[in-house]
Amino acid sequence: MTPKLEEQAIELIKSRGEEGLYQNELWKLLKIDSREGSRLTLRLLKKGIIVREPVVHNGRKTYKLYYVRPKIPELMVSIEKIRDVPCFRCTYDSKCNPGNFHNPETCPFLTAWIKEQVEKLKALELVS
Ligand code: SF4
Repeated sequence: MTPKLEEQAIELIKSRGEEGLYQNELWKLLKIDSREGSRLTLRLLKKGIIVREPVVHNGRKTYKLYYVRPKIPELMVSIEKIRDVPCFRCTYDSKCNPGNFHNPETCPFLTAWIKEQVEKLKALELVS
């Protein structure tokens, strides 16, 4: 199973929003059989990317799949996310205070870093 197939599945499920997507509909859209489709669905469930709900559709038991948004607090506490903050390696950190020449409110390095983080979150659709 290719990562590209997983990405396509995620995009399709995500595009249905709160309406959800029947799993057999997903398999048809991806042009895969039920065996491969079941494995794909289980992988996405295991990774916590989707959830499923048992439903009856056209008289048959199946599942509806829903995309799960990543939780922002989990992203914000990660050391990975803050290790590049420019203040950690700044030679002015001891002189930097609001009102001083070196000022976090006007610092171009810090501003650039924050803008970069916002763009990354926008790409993940966590902020608008
Ligand atoms: S806000 Fe700017 S000047 Fe101040 S410590 Fe951070 S990077 Fe350095």
